[in-house]
Amino acid sequence: MTNTAGVKIHPAVDSGVKSGNPNFSGGTLSCRCASNPVKVRVGAQTAHNHVCGCTKCWKPDGATFSQIAVVSRDAVEVLENADKLEVVNAEAPIQRYRCRDCGVHMYGRIENKDHPFYGLDFVHTELSSEDGWSAPEFAAFVSSIIESGVDPSEMDAIRSRLRELGLEPYDALSPPLMDAIATHVAKRSGALPA
Ligand SMILES: [Zn+2]
Ligand SMILES: [Zn+2]
Repeated sequence: MTNTAGVKIHPAVDSGVKSGNPNFSGGTLSCRCASNPVKVRVGAQTAHNHVCGCTKCWKPDGATFSQIAVVSRDAVEVLENADKLEVVNAEAPIQRYRCRDCGVHMYGRIENKDHPFYGLDFVHTELSSEDGWSAPEFAAFVSSIIESGVDPSEMDAIRSRLRELGLEPYDALSPPLMDAIATHVAKRSGALPA
């Protein structure tokens, strides 16, 4: 057995994954600014919540993974201090809007209508004080944490800890999401009926 004592993933899951409330219908995300925080209303329950090891998602200080979910873009509305938002990288497939004062990413949006996930925004529900958001279900892009400086020798313990938490580790997205991407590509190429 790999020793997983002291292995940290993300503050929202380190003491166990909290289950979501199926009747939950949304809440408000706030950035970390002490004054004039950016506030974003997410008016629906999220889906496909997961922890992510990529180097692009926003992570709280000290966290090895980010925690990120999707929601319909129609459900996302900036309520306050929209003037503080800036796009991290306009060339990236996901336009991540961050607060230029505290650096927190408030939502990520896809503008390319041909993208498999067009219509979905990416949000960090830990920025909300409400309970009941959909629980993280898996761990994506796990090997990518090495790109952030994690020693490869720690990977066994990290993958073991993810499994203990019920967050199956994948080095891409989860199989259902990878299948959704491949289906989208196949329908566009004609390999599958549209
Ligand atoms: Zn801020
Ligand atoms: Zn990510």
